[in-house]
Amino acid sequence: MQGFHLKNGSFYCESVELEELAKEFGTPLYIYSEEVLKNNCQQFLNSFSAYPTKICYAVKANYNLSILKKIFQFGMGADVVSIGELERAIKSGVSLDKVVFSGVGKTKEELDRAISLGIASLNVESSFELELIKQISEQKKQNISVALRINPNIDVKTNPYIATGLYETKFGIPDEDLESVAEIVKGHRFVQFEGLACHIGSQIMELKSFELAAKRLVDLAYRMKERGFPIRRIDLGGGLGISYQQGQIAPSIRNYAESILKVFRDTPFELVLEPGRSVVGAAGVLLTTILGTKKHKNRHFTIVDAAMNDLIRPCLYEAYHEIVPVKAKAAPEVITDVVGPVCETGDFLGLSRTLASPSSGELLFIKNAGAYGTTMSSNYNARPRCAEVLVSGNEVTVIRRRESVAELWHHEI
Ligand SMILES: *Cc1c(COP(=O)(O)O)cnc(C)c1O
Repeated sequence: MQGFHLKNGSFYCESVELEELAKEFGTPLYIYSEEVLKNNCQQFLNSFSAYPTKICYAVKANYNLSILKKIFQFGMGADVVSIGELERAIKSGVSLDKVVFSGVGKTKEELDRAISLGIASLNVESSFELELIKQISEQKKQNISVALRINPNIDVKTNPYIATGLYETKFGIPDEDLESVAEIVKGHRFVQFEGLACHIGSQIMELKSFELAAKRLVDLAYRMKERGFPIRRIDLGGGLGISYQQGQIAPSIRNYAESILKVFRDTPFELVLEPGRSVVGAAGVLLTTILGTKKHKNRHFTIVDAAMNDLIRPCLYEAYHEIVPVKAKAAPEVITDVVGPVCETGDFLGLSRTLASPSSGELLFIKNAGAYGTTMSSNYNARPRCAEVLVSGNEVTVIRRRESVAELWHHEI
């Protein structure tokens, strides 16, 4: 696979030179490789093909319509958490029998729409929401399949802001409350409680955590079946990590599948997964131009035209993204903070990085920016959002044009 690679001292996305893309479309610019995206989707689909599995891509990771359309064409479903994500998925051609709707609080409007459409599952995390679903389904006289999201209290090694499986977090239903919540819809005419769900966090690098969650849920599903609840589906959520840093090894999708299927083999439960980052993360980079450099005593800064409004992960999670010059050059190295122009100290893309004498006009790219890049971007400091292009072989498609300055106040009076 080619993906993003170096050829004759210059970086390419598939057959297209990044420098050419900068010339044609300007920077900052998000660039996606269709090959990487397709490869990741196929890895998921193939690795679970021997077991009844629905792979519902977590739309929040990247919901550009063109990206979604590709992902659904490859055969994935969608995990959505808002009406906006639901409508984006539908507009991009998802099949409704592969849509699950997660989230800690859904509005009446959102539940109404999901029930009318008849999606595969509403994943519910509270008794108040289950009550509301009961009401709506009775009014509409429409069936809806429901899964209850468990909080399995598993401590995973990741950033606390993206660890979601502990009791201290707002997510899920503690397992000791599961049965009393489930009673709300036991034997109900329209609401079929037939699934258990969990999502233990994001950027998880240890397969043991997934295996443990799988075991907990399978055990719980058997217990619920014994008590007369017709469980037939288990949703393990997403969370598989990717390698952001050299030397950091992420589990392969194949090994991830093995460790989960080992637990599910010989059980009667359909499997649902909701991967986000591991599908799109490595498929995208953020291309940026160096505006200039400066030195404060011992600190060296490289100021670039991309900022925290384009990619907030370094600021928000202290996330590490590799930053690479588009053109390799032999020059003395400096230790430098790569920062954006936004008026916040937190506006950095990378701290204390080693770069070969960065200088104004040169291009850098930030790797693994395909997930939680554009979807978490904002207009802070009244910065128009960047353009996005999708590369397939030597073909380049603009999948989001750069916002104009006038569009910034488009909705204002
Ligand atoms: C965020 C999220 C996902 C996707 O997580 P990744 O780490 O990107 O795979 C899946 N399911 C739920 C419920 C989520 O909140």
